[in-house]
Amino acid sequence: MPNDLLAEIVAAIPVPALIVDRTERIVVSNAGAQALLGRGIDNRHFATILRQPQVIEAIEQGLSTKQPVQTRHFANDGGQDTTFTVECRYIKEVGTEFGGAILATFQDVTHLEQARQMRRDFVANVSHELRTPLTALMGFIETLGGPARDDPAARDRFLKIMASEANRMNRLVGDLLSLNRVESEERIRPKQQLELTELVQSTLTSLRPLADEADLSITLSAPDNPVLLNGDSDQLRQVFTNLVENAIKYGGSGGSVEVVVTKSERDASTRGPAALVQVIDKGPGIDSMHLPRLTERFYRADSHRSRELGGTGLGLAIVKHIVNRHRGRLRVESELGVGSVFTVVLPL
Ligand code: ADP
Repeated sequence: MPNDLLAEIVAAIPVPALIVDRTERIVVSNAGAQALLGRGIDNRHFATILRQPQVIEAIEQGLSTKQPVQTRHFANDGGQDTTFTVECRYIKEVGTEFGGAILATFQDVTHLEQARQMRRDFVANVSHELRTPLTALMGFIETLGGPARDDPAARDRFLKIMASEANRMNRLVGDLLSLNRVESEERIRPKQQLELTELVQSTLTSLRPLADEADLSITLSAPDNPVLLNGDSDQLRQVFTNLVENAIKYGGSGGSVEVVVTKSERDASTRGPAALVQVIDKGPGIDSMHLPRLTERFYRADSHRSRELGGTGLGLAIVKHIVNRHRGRLRVESELGVGSVFTVVLPL
């Protein structure tokens, strides 16, 4: 096959691609391969360009066995590590000498790798979070079956702790299922019309016992006119529940939690008219280094305190996904010693 026709075909391959023939030189390469490996790679010995041993070996193996070989190529693109899958395929009657060559194509699988890593981290986190209360439960079961069998006072105390550990597991499973449901619906735009102030008000009513228990006052201020928008009322109720519960749990020492509903003609984050719900506490605040990661699953600014208060570490991740589904934004502002403001911006 003439080399210019070969070059045309390789140029049309939508991923980085090159051909190495039996002279061990790169006969042709496309623009993608040159962007990845450098310009002027044609006619060079392939091992001086593709320096990674596994890639060199794969091409040599493909040439000698004529069988498909797959390997990986690692690169660095502007400071970010990238991973490619390299497919080596033997092609007959191509090349300058003796016939036969290898077509090597490079598929960027960085995102796939990141998703795999995230899944592995997630499974490790979930297992760890479940195992902690489970270990406590197993310990108490053993104690109740042995040393504490005939001690009614210890039995009552242990059963209370066991109930609380079982509750923690139950909350975790509930939050995991919520997160799953919310994620699977994230692309479906909610269509139901609702009135925001009423929804916030009824959420606060159901949280009143928790606030009373913490000896806290919750105040709501809202516009006189109804704030109508399209949304999923169950999910938005969950958003405000999670934020107000956090304000009570972590910011309760401030003595009060304020919830403010407002309308804005144009909000910078939604670039149009929006409804804003702010949950404000005067608690200890959050160090700014935690703010960018706060909505990640299982990320906690203060792990010890979160666990002590029975937190699952999933509340804000759920909030973020629901707000995304509503094409809205979650803004977090916080100052140590002053308090925190969580703002949900929902487009109108
Ligand atoms: P958790 O179940 O731990 O409460 P969340 O996802 O709801 O998980 O919150 C993540 C972390 O953010 C919490 O562990 C806590 O450290 C921090 N946080 C959330 N809200 C507040 C708040 N109002 N004041 C201080 N810290 C907060």
